Amino acid sequence: MAASEFELIRRYFEQTRFPQRPDVILGIGDDGALLEAPPGQTLAVTVDMLVAGVHFPLDADPEAVGHKALAVNLSDLAAMGAVPAWVTLAIALPEPDEPWLQRFSRGFYALAERFQVQLVGGDTTRGPLTISIQAHGFVPASEALRRDGAHPGDIICVTGTLGDAGLALAATQGRMAIPDDRESYLHDRLHRPSPRIPQGIDLRGLASSAIDVSDGLAQDLSHILERSRAGARLYVERLPYSAAFSACCQDIETAIRLAIGSGDDYELCFTVPPKHRERLFALAERWDCRCTEIGVIESEPGLRCRRDDGTTYRFARGGYDHFA
Ligand code: ADP
Ligand code: MG
Repeated sequence: MAASEFELIRRYFEQTRFPQRPDVILGIGDDGALLEAPPGQTLAVTVDMLVAGVHFPLDADPEAVGHKALAVNLSDLAAMGAVPAWVTLAIALPEPDEPWLQRFSRGFYALAERFQVQLVGGDTTRGPLTISIQAHGFVPASEALRRDGAHPGDIICVTGTLGDAGLALAATQGRMAIPDDRESYLHDRLHRPSPRIPQGIDLRGLASSAIDVSDGLAQDLSHILERSRAGARLYVERLPYSAAFSACCQDIETAIRLAIGSGDDYELCFTVPPKHRERLFALAERWDCRCTEIGVIESEPGLRCRRDDGTTYRFARGGYDHFA
């Protein structure tokens, strides 16, 4: 007999073998959770929805779906400079597919454990496969990384490398070819993004603005520009690429197009006043990813992409827009 809704929740989501946070007074199992934020900290809250067939293919590896569903939320907290603490999970399933749930929850919990995040509640219903996660983190309000603080003269930087996820997606759609020895690295960059939590925390009090790159660098940077009522010059020939990306994308034009126009990288794009440049790169020495300066904020609105010889780079299409 198929398990009941409550049995599914108990089996796959109420996992007491994972670290239980002391600030969770009451977790899964009641009508609501009771949570206690530390004094002096502000709650940062974010929610994201993943729909099968839109955000991931119906036959996607459930473990990767569990990882990514949580990772995209933690990435938003990273972009706020917040330390993640609690998450809730609402899930609609076409049927009580236990092998699927088992693998999904394995991917979810492995990442939750890495960042000491506790699942404190949720909802489980029948319906087209949809996952919505809400994540809560802590950050002192005065140090939170917002989109509206960039000033002319601030340098624009990015963590890690760009374009890997876009390249991996293009490969699964048959638009690009990836050699076998690069496949697993690029596949993981698309399906198992690593939220830049420690980087976001380091950027507190240092970055004047930040955003996570989920829809493509050009589009996401434009959000900072709009919010900050500023413009930017982006050096398209100084974007950071992984070794795997460079090996697959020897054509520089394709590389730039993927790096600024494709989404899913989940890196942080942020601005820093030039007086903090040295401090930033000293901090970035101990990061597990690169930190690259890719442009500068200007007072004239708009995003201007420049090649190193000073000429303008024109790109055809922006990032992903669900309603475009
Ligand atoms: P209610 O009807 O009061 O909303 P539910 O029957 O939906 O309660 O859920 C019972 C308990 O299980 C609640 O504490 C809820 O937060 C939790 N829960 C339900 N689904 C999930 C899930 N997918 N992940 C985590 N907790 C869940
Ligand atoms: Mg409910």
